[in-house]
Amino acid sequence: MTKVKRQLLSGDEAIALAALRAGVTLGTGYPGTPSTEILETYARLGGRAQWAPNEKVALEVGAGVAFARGRALVTMKHVGLNVAADVLFTVAYSGVSGALVIVSADDPGMSSSQNEQDNRRYAVAAGVPMVEPADSQEAYDFTFAALEMSERWGVPVLLRLTTRVCHAKSIVADGRAPLPAVAPRFERNIPERVMIPAHARPAHRRLRQKLAEIATWAETAPLNRRTAGDGRLGIVTSGVAVMHAREAAPQAALLQLGVTHPLPLQLIRDFAASVQECVVLEEGDPYLEEALRAAGIAVRGKPAGYRFGELNVARTRRILAADASPEPAPARGKPPQLCPGCPYRTVFTVLRRLECIVSGDIGCYTLGALPPFEAMDFQTCMGASIGMGLGLRHTLPADEARRVVSVIGDSTFMHSGLTGVAEMVYNPPATGHVLLILDNGTTAMTGQQEHPATGRTLNHEPTGRVAIEAVVRAMGVPQVDVVDPMKEAEFEALLRERLASGRLAVIVARRSCILAAGAIRAYEKAAAARSQPLGGCPADAATTTTGETEG
Ligand code: SF4
Repeated sequence: MTKVKRQLLSGDEAIALAALRAGVTLGTGYPGTPSTEILETYARLGGRAQWAPNEKVALEVGAGVAFARGRALVTMKHVGLNVAADVLFTVAYSGVSGALVIVSADDPGMSSSQNEQDNRRYAVAAGVPMVEPADSQEAYDFTFAALEMSERWGVPVLLRLTTRVCHAKSIVADGRAPLPAVAPRFERNIPERVMIPAHARPAHRRLRQKLAEIATWAETAPLNRRTAGDGRLGIVTSGVAVMHAREAAPQAALLQLGVTHPLPLQLIRDFAASVQECVVLEEGDPYLEEALRAAGIAVRGKPAGYRFGELNVARTRRILAADASPEPAPARGKPPQLCPGCPYRTVFTVLRRLECIVSGDIGCYTLGALPPFEAMDFQTCMGASIGMGLGLRHTLPADEARRVVSVIGDSTFMHSGLTGVAEMVYNPPATGHVLLILDNGTTAMTGQQEHPATGRTLNHEPTGRVAIEAVVRAMGVPQVDVVDPMKEAEFEALLRERLASGRLAVIVARRSCILAAGAIRAYEKAAAARSQPLGGCPADAATTTTGETEG
């Protein structure tokens, strides 16, 4: 019998530990708060983990692992699931032979995101089962449960968390026996794995049948828990809202849903009938409320204002009291800024001075929109700076169009900037375009993770490196320059020239993020000391000396 060990862990760490214990074959994902620590911890514990260029590729790799009967854990923040959605919707049809668990870490309140989307909607839209832990112990237990569900029904399972569950620490009893070992094997099954329309039609029916079976199972599954109360108030809840409900209304009966898709409707119906009033308490969208009302279960939801931001105990008390009066204004925080000494402050100073219209992207550089720079005009999602900049160039009068510049970071460029360059080369605006790739040698915003253009793995070990300037040249951009953004006068002169040229141009402004520079030097030194040539590895061919990161 496995000895139980108690540890204080965050939800992210608990998932990593469970993945290790359960025998996950490969963890893959793209860094994004609040999910980043899952793979970092998993790797630190000895699991096999890697960063993918983006979430879609991560899910593709995870699907491949699960097609070979392996167990895959694919991690991302909520907006990452938008990127991976194309794969998700069809892998739900094709199913898997092993286990495929996709972690979606949602960020209600947008502590570090561009929107507060509620990814419970994805489970319904894609038709995949979803489990939602409320604390670290459940994050640990539900990781096992999600892997087991995925293997039992041969479907991808969404493990959905929110910020507080990801980052809050609580005690985890680590004592689960590993899942039975699996021997990787690929079995040809063309009708189930190749989603041409003739195969996809029955696959959709198979998926719905699996969901019906899971719904029946969920009615008595131990992941849903019922706590008795005084009979007057009953609360149906899930995720971190469980904790707020327990504290705000200890006398209430509680139905804590661990499986939130498909919903155990009979269980909920019985619970609602057992109390005088049944309230749905949920963070984010009225997902449960709408589903229960549609099923004819009489519940009260929350006033509309509580759809925004995270819940806490005070807000929960107000929801339970149906208090829709204006909430107290939160204390004003200090606005974030580019770090003092950030090598890219000069870039935004110059863009402002030249009165450029700046199409921005995700990452530290979004902060160029704020004072003192105010040098970014729009930004939506990863990689969009290039396409949006091109759209402006196609539309504005020539004089104005020549002022449009797209700005993107190196990690973001690897994530989803390459297709923007393809568009730029394929449909060039009459005035050309200028793309600035700010290569700080890391994924700075999420805590200095590696990416395919750093030449190091998740564990900071040397690997093949994508040379950004070589790639854009090969894609057909006629003018490609690499500059040091700290040399302000040189950078400004080059930018002026490229804007005036009316041709397509990419300027790679390369200088290490000052927060990461020391670590990067240490990795490079360690690699040199070990002098591990990649001899024979095809990745060698992509390694370049022209792309060295300065710092
Ligand atoms: S983290 Fe690095 S790249 Fe980001 S603002 Fe700070 S110094 Fe600049």
